[in-house]
Amino acid sequence: MALPLDVCIRGDGIVGRTLALLLARERLRVGLVMPEPTPAAQPDVRAYALNQASKDLLTSVRCWPDSVSATPILRMEVADQAGGAIQFDATSLGTDALTWIVDVPVLQAQLADAVRFQPQIELLNAPVKATLTVVCEGRASRTRAEFGVDFEVAPYGQHALATRVHCEKPHAQVARQWFSKVEVLAFLPLDGASGHTVAVVWSVSPEQAKTLQAASEAEFCDALQTASHHSLGSLTLMGERAEWPLQSAQARQWTGSNDSGAWALAGDAAHNVHPLAGQGLNLGLADVAELADQLQQRDYWRSVGDPQVLRRYERARKAGMLAMARGGDSLHWLFSQQTGMWPQLRRWGMNRMNEATPLKRWLARQAMDI
Ligand SMILES: Cc1cc2nc3c(=O)[nH]c(=O)nc-3n(C[C@H](O)[C@H](O)[C@H](O)COP(=O)(O)OP(=O)(O)OC[C@H]3O[C@@H](n4cnc5c(N)ncnc54)[C@H](O)[C@@H]3O)c2cc1C
Repeated sequence: MALPLDVCIRGDGIVGRTLALLLARERLRVGLVMPEPTPAAQPDVRAYALNQASKDLLTSVRCWPDSVSATPILRMEVADQAGGAIQFDATSLGTDALTWIVDVPVLQAQLADAVRFQPQIELLNAPVKATLTVVCEGRASRTRAEFGVDFEVAPYGQHALATRVHCEKPHAQVARQWFSKVEVLAFLPLDGASGHTVAVVWSVSPEQAKTLQAASEAEFCDALQTASHHSLGSLTLMGERAEWPLQSAQARQWTGSNDSGAWALAGDAAHNVHPLAGQGLNLGLADVAELADQLQQRDYWRSVGDPQVLRRYERARKAGMLAMARGGDSLHWLFSQQTGMWPQLRRWGMNRMNEATPLKRWLARQAMDI
């Protein structure tokens, strides 16, 4: 490409690739920097709960997977060890699905293909100078550190262990979550309406994560069956066990400029939240939707690196992200209280909430963006 780039995106995760497609659609000249190749990595075992806004955005760039790889969720069941329980039903909330569980490697592959065939996007091995650099390198972003941006990190003291299991009984499009002491176990349905596979996310102490990693397949599945109250019958391991230390984090500054030009952060490079609320990527996609909107709506005489345009993006997204992070932190705190009256209070609160239909509907709409 002979002309200089308008935007150089560093990081080819779901957030970076989606942004590249959104900006290419606006006829901007975009470069997408891929990481240095590493020895063949295992496919990601995770599946993401994505909300309506993320679905609409990915559909708009023609990368929303089909209904086998993006399973619509009809019901959500949350149970606490203390006896509290709450359920949400798509039908009673007047919606087709509460959320969609998206197979991560399928989504990544669709985005990779779309980016490869978009002539406005240049795939790069190293960063190049551009009017605007957008950093989408994930939580351990090297560029964020190079640019001297403070990243305030608060570890949760938990690791998320993720894998996939085949279940004896069909999942029936029900997402299930169990809270027990400080642990959270989630079963996210995969393979469409008649699927028998679930993606597992088990948030446990680092010591427990080590024990579960070292356990044989049979021991691991036994522990999982017990923790899931045998709700889907016997379980068979179908993927590797991958692990992530959990943290809440936020960059102090999301936009700025330096010798390389103007810059902005998006996705996990800007913020990390607990996966218990399933919102990290939803937030990252909301970032790039907002950034693309601000760039598209800018006055014709402003460049894509205009500080006023970038500040508008930063203000809008910091507010959205803070609300979500506070909600997630409060939930995490509430479910980790195991002493005194807290377990009974929690049980009482969850059971009352389950009966209070208007309040429950409001909560579901806030949490699931429906
Ligand atoms: C166990 C678990 C479950 C989760 N479940 C959900 C969920 O249900 N719903 C949800 O919304 N979110 C969920 N999340 C959060 C979600 O994983 C992240 O928010 C999302 O992956 C962030 O995407 P990203 O593109 O910003 O960063 P990443 O996915 O980290 O991608 C960054 C990309 O940049 C590349 N890169 C890094 N450094 C460089 C460099 N120097 N140069 C070039 N490229 C570089 C990397 O190779 C990678 O491809 C979960 C997270 C975990 C840990």
